[in-house]
Amino acid sequence: MARIVQKFGGTSVGDLARIRNVALRVKAEIDRGNEVAVVVSAMSGVTNQLVDYCTQMAPLHDAREYDAIVATGEQVTSGLLAIALQELGVQARSWAGWQIPIITDDAHSRARIAEIRGAEIIRRMAEGQVAVVAGFQGLGPDNRVTTLGRGGSDTTAVALAAALKADRCDIYTDVDGVYTTDPRIVKSARKLDKITYEEMLEMASLGAKVLQTRSVEMAMKHRVRVQVLSSFSDAPGTLVCDEDEIVEKELVSGIAYSRDEAKVTLVAVSDQPGIAAGIFSPLADANINVDMIVQNTSHDGTTDLTFTCGRADLERALKVVKDNMKIPFKTINTDKSVVKVSVIGVGMRSHAGVAQTMFKALADKGINIQVISTSEIKVSVLIAEEYTELALRALHTAYGLDAS
Ligand code: ASP
Ligand code: MG
Repeated sequence: MARIVQKFGGTSVGDLARIRNVALRVKAEIDRGNEVAVVVSAMSGVTNQLVDYCTQMAPLHDAREYDAIVATGEQVTSGLLAIALQELGVQARSWAGWQIPIITDDAHSRARIAEIRGAEIIRRMAEGQVAVVAGFQGLGPDNRVTTLGRGGSDTTAVALAAALKADRCDIYTDVDGVYTTDPRIVKSARKLDKITYEEMLEMASLGAKVLQTRSVEMAMKHRVRVQVLSSFSDAPGTLVCDEDEIVEKELVSGIAYSRDEAKVTLVAVSDQPGIAAGIFSPLADANINVDMIVQNTSHDGTTDLTFTCGRADLERALKVVKDNMKIPFKTINTDKSVVKVSVIGVGMRSHAGVAQTMFKALADKGINIQVISTSEIKVSVLIAEEYTELALRALHTAYGLDAS
């Protein structure tokens, strides 16, 4: 017997027929003799609709009321799935976040889970009852409903799996796993059988939208084994797990890209102490996330400094720099048509030459690298956006990832 948390995303519960299909999947786990708790998202499109209502009522609205409104989507699905299960003869009960309770902090609309008191659910699971939990929501210290940020049901599922000490957390979605790169762009992309927490975290934060980044952090912290799989097929999915569980480690596991980047270059900044602090402190104060940073050595007492930020933040970033910059510089150049391409793999901790392979593959295609940054398990480059597809395909081949 195993204890399993299953999570079904918006498309998997998109209409009543699909909810019935989900009920069959839950029943199949019960019939295998397992204990099951289920976490559901709102039916696809519902959360967007609810957010839209809030914005139409008032563009700037109270976050507590926003939470009261958008949390309802998941409650509908949890009740419907409980009914569908009962129709199949499976004992089931729906749970809103506050009923368990899932305790969060008070950051309404983007709350973090502090604690889940799972004792009652564990007791009922032992009696064969399925808990159908509304994802994405919790209870704040002000005794009001909170939500966990968009995509937060993934985090509910992983946190619940940790609290219930589940053997596995199965995340059912509309793709059948985690791929070596975006299969819409690279036809030879392969589904990975397994990927480490660290790699998945990089993939998620670098633009692969399979799992909410925070859910991966949570899985890594509590060592929850997470399986990503499709609710529309019976194919095995991708297991996100500890490095020790992966026998044959690839040098590079995946290639991610993000079009959400913009590049800012300050030309001929006077080279003196305090430059970086003078530029980046005001940006941080304005809550602008800066990603890649390069500064060159100076020759004539000035240096060029380049950084990247989210495309949506570019105008704000420019204003902040111009308003706060006390150190002299010549001009600011910006570029919005850039893309960040990253190769990711725990194998590069112990192997040399990974970056070199990347640079050579791009050079062979005549693609210019504008900015480079590295971490222990990834190398990222910034290139012109028009080369995204070409770069992804070239790198996929260069690292031997193409399906044979
Ligand atoms: N329904 C919420 C959203 O669309 C949470 C989730 O589905 O994970 O963001
Ligand atoms: Mg999702």
